[in-house]
Amino acid sequence: MDYKIALIRGDGIGPEVVQEAVRVMDTIGKKFHHNFTYIEVDLGGCATDKYGVSYPEGTAEKCKACDAVLLGAVGGPKWGTDKPAEQRPETALLAIRKDLGLYANLRHATLRPALVDACPLKKETAEKGIDIMMVRELIGGVYFGKRGRYETENCGIECTDLMAYSEMEVERIGRRAFELAQKRGKRVASVDKANVLETSRLWRETMHRISQDYPDVTLEDVLVDNCAMQLVRDPSQFDVIVTENMFGDILSDEASMITGSLGLLPSASIGSNAPALYEPIHGSAPDIAGKDKANPIATILSVGMMFKYSFDLPAESEAIEKAVDSVLAAGWHTADMMGNADQLVGCKKMGSLICEALEN
Ligand code: NAD
Repeated sequence: MDYKIALIRGDGIGPEVVQEAVRVMDTIGKKFHHNFTYIEVDLGGCATDKYGVSYPEGTAEKCKACDAVLLGAVGGPKWGTDKPAEQRPETALLAIRKDLGLYANLRHATLRPALVDACPLKKETAEKGIDIMMVRELIGGVYFGKRGRYETENCGIECTDLMAYSEMEVERIGRRAFELAQKRGKRVASVDKANVLETSRLWRETMHRISQDYPDVTLEDVLVDNCAMQLVRDPSQFDVIVTENMFGDILSDEASMITGSLGLLPSASIGSNAPALYEPIHGSAPDIAGKDKANPIATILSVGMMFKYSFDLPAESEAIEKAVDSVLAAGWHTADMMGNADQLVGCKKMGSLICEALEN
């Protein structure tokens, strides 16, 4: 099969980790007889340097003409908050997500077998395993609601941030969560604060209504405070967690942290009518950029998610997961991970080891 992939290499370590992911895609292409064509797309600080704006005109159209988008990372001190909005990399990230209508963010938080010792939880908890698909609503809720700031008579300034959700917004992400659960452990934990918030009551009603269409999946309601607690008490109890934007922002970082390394976790942002965007959860790590120190595994595993969710190629996705696990089990690691000094490797070598494991 032929696939066209938009490559947003971005800033900092972005180009280094994307390059290793491209080598992995090419290795998969040879092994499984697929042809991958790459379309380079400038976005972020590098685009500001080239064109004066971080989100050049035509960026969304270029991406829409592809089957999927792979992004390294964008941002860095060079394009900080003192710059006008149109030059800042974060503006471009929000714009591309909005223009592609990417309303669901999927983070796959797994504790890789070789890294149980890096997990900050108790050993007996870690040994039970972690394999959570965190599904976060991405373009609604309080981050996108109306804001207000006004003087009060007796209490100084008062501010408001409105959290609004429509049934349509809850239903479309809810259905994504149920469909994902059908392909995994068939359990959905829907996280809300229905004992306090009206938006959460609508969230819960909607999730229960649509659950009737997925009789093979078990739905459980979990209050957000309890979910935060359960994630550190026993994360093995979760399969798919689905929640609104702000709760998801916080819980997905917590879920990532308990797996031990930021450099290992992939993510996908998915919409209905445009290609999905795949990216590592980490940022552009300006402190190690250009030093061949970055861990490319999160970006390589993002390609694994792309194969599974955009191209419906589960065998290719599994081959990547297995190759990564075998390299880690053999003791190879980058500087962000623990391990023996004689098996410390750089970004390029880690990419090569994973390609070699794929070829064997
Ligand atoms: P960061 O994730 O870039 O770095 C945090 C720490 O983790 C640093 O010490 C870094 O060296 C290390 N690290 C991150 N990824 C690594 C990897 N693959 N291998 C080895 N070590 C790694 O977060 P930050 O420092 O808060 O942000 C740096 C820049 O990245 C900022 O400009 C921020 O806005 C941007 N950012 C971009 C994205 C994105 O593109 N989606 C996400 C988060 C942050």
